[in-house]
Amino acid sequence: MPQGDIFRMSIKYVKGVGEARAKLLTKLGIYTVNDALNFFPRDYQDRSILKKITEIQDGEECSVRASLVSDVTESKPRRNLSIVKALVSDGTAFLSLTWFNQSYIKNNLKNGIEYIFFGKVKRNGMRLEMHNPVIETAEQSGKYTGRILPVYPLTKGLTQTHLRTVIENSLKLAESKFEEILPQDLRERYNLSHIGFSYEEIHFPQSLHHMEQARRRLVFEELLILQLSLLKSKGINKEQKGNRFEPVDVNPLLNKLTFKLTSAQKKVFEEICNDMQSDRKMNRLIQGDVGSGKTIVAVMAIYVAAKNGYQSAFMVPTEILAEQHYRSVRQLFEDLGISVRLLTGSTKKKEKEEIKALAKEGKIDVLIGTHAILEDDTEFYKLGLVITDEQHRFGVRQRAKLSVKGENPDLLVMTATPIPRTLTLTLYGDLDVSIIDELPPDRKPIDTYAVNESYRERIYNFIRKNVAEGRQAYIVCPLVEDSDEIEAESAEGLAERIRDNELKGLRVGLIHGKMKSAEKDKVMRKFVDGQLDVLVSTTVIEVGVNVPNANLMIIENAERFGLSQLHQLRGRVGRGKYKSYCILFNQSKSDVSRQRMEIMTSTNNGFVISEKDLELRGPGDVFGVRQHGLPELKIANLYRDMDILKDVQKAVKHIIESNLLLNEQYMLLNKKLDDIIKEKFKEISLN
Ligand code: ADP
Ligand code: MG
Repeated sequence: MPQGDIFRMSIKYVKGVGEARAKLLTKLGIYTVNDALNFFPRDYQDRSILKKITEIQDGEECSVRASLVSDVTESKPRRNLSIVKALVSDGTAFLSLTWFNQSYIKNNLKNGIEYIFFGKVKRNGMRLEMHNPVIETAEQSGKYTGRILPVYPLTKGLTQTHLRTVIENSLKLAESKFEEILPQDLRERYNLSHIGFSYEEIHFPQSLHHMEQARRRLVFEELLILQLSLLKSKGINKEQKGNRFEPVDVNPLLNKLTFKLTSAQKKVFEEICNDMQSDRKMNRLIQGDVGSGKTIVAVMAIYVAAKNGYQSAFMVPTEILAEQHYRSVRQLFEDLGISVRLLTGSTKKKEKEEIKALAKEGKIDVLIGTHAILEDDTEFYKLGLVITDEQHRFGVRQRAKLSVKGENPDLLVMTATPIPRTLTLTLYGDLDVSIIDELPPDRKPIDTYAVNESYRERIYNFIRKNVAEGRQAYIVCPLVEDSDEIEAESAEGLAERIRDNELKGLRVGLIHGKMKSAEKDKVMRKFVDGQLDVLVSTTVIEVGVNVPNANLMIIENAERFGLSQLHQLRGRVGRGKYKSYCILFNQSKSDVSRQRMEIMTSTNNGFVISEKDLELRGPGDVFGVRQHGLPELKIANLYRDMDILKDVQKAVKHIIESNLLLNEQYMLLNKKLDDIIKEKFKEISLN
């Protein structure tokens, strides 16, 4: 990205802007010339294609070079409506032009002059028509016609023409001042165009080929900087001193378990111990499929910290999950002399105060909770370990905020979203990654079936049969309440219907995101305690809850969910000793839906599913980029740009392994990374 004064100049001084328009531009995030240059088109309109009228297809958008063959007429069929009409020809055929409420056009068009008209052509019987075409005389063409124009995201009060002008004028100011931060050898090796060319051509491309070249370079640079800065901050983190913990015998804890650790759990715990025993700060991500047993590994780390006299904070995204962890952790630590407390948004004020006081005095060893742990007045006496579970719900900033509560506490992040390998570096380049790649041996695969409506009755009978055997079922719907716009099952609608009809006589509960947490907890608790047979819900149950007696997961409108999400939901069953099933109601007949359902029925492996999901839909759908705390990307699209991403990864590997950042040629790039990292740390300390 360019540097220097002109780039930092306020947008209001750019020709054609001024105070009022500058204010509108801020709504689009444009404050400076640099912001304008980095405000990229969302699309292009190719006005460079000149067509003979006879060649034009119905519905085509193109330019035509033609002159009037009749007088221009105007009619006013209604008040507030003016219609200007003209007939033009290029010698091959006629074209009728119509403008609505642009009265002035009739004075602009003259006989005997050639014009370029740009617009969408429609066939109306024998006639070809263009509505509201853009006009330039053939002689003057080149600004509004005859070239490829950018199409920008807009805000009320700003038109495409405004933005094009602002950006065109910004480009004029910046011309020849762009600083090339990518060294020549890198640009040659990866076929990356020059920075000045790239900014010119991304906004006002000479050809679509140029635009693609420009885009390639800008995407490459964005991803390269992202990955290198993550790796560099990982390097900095590595130098950060942390607490050095003494090794601890965890057998007293393990002896309380009813199972043996898998070798994957042992391996990951060993990696954690190595981090904890070193005097460096731990920054580790534990990735493991649903049910792989991440929690116990975290609990073992907490045990090590506690026996070393350090406190731990365990942060989870929902109250239900916090309570569940609290209950199981407390039970494990009960007679091991480790005190555990729970702090959530619905903890009573008095108790909250008591907990905060105890935490501050060091009388609580483990604090489990939701965002409430982040509140400014939650202080610790000696915080040594911070764990966040189901990390995709927390941002990088919250992670950082929690770690400033202690003196460089070790950090452990757990996620059940298997990240496709191709994205790990981009999403988690600043963390060391441990993978629990094995499920406990007692797990039976969950039989999964994709069905259509004709199976509905059979499915309800199946639920009844399982309930009669003492089991419980989940039914997940994409919507909370019935909607006029979206045709899909709603949790409220379905719960009501099956209570009175199909599942009459069964105890049916309802839980969804619009309910108060206390209410949600009440319903959830009833389900956990076996006082409900069927729980109808939205995806609020997606994360972490554990009800071993539930063996049926039914998902309505499964086509509306991402595959990774379906996999998470499916992971809610198969947690006990009972044979479990997942039924996907697929209400779509599309090919892609069918393929997606096939993936779900053919594998229980979260990694495979996430890779496929990425192929079929794109990462935005897999797990919302923002959920991951990934900086918003300005131009790159992780799905569309997978090929560029692969090149970037090659380049990053080469740069790091050959230690190129210290080379003269890489000085500007290196400085850019330092600026970004500095900015990031500043941001964190401000929060
Ligand atoms: P997740 O990785 O999805 O968070 P959990 O940590 O909640 O999984 O573990 C799921 C269930 O598996 C829990 O009931 C836990 O007690 C159990 N579990 C964990 N490790 C093992 C193991 N090695 N063998 C058998 N059961 C295990
Ligand atoms: Mg978990």
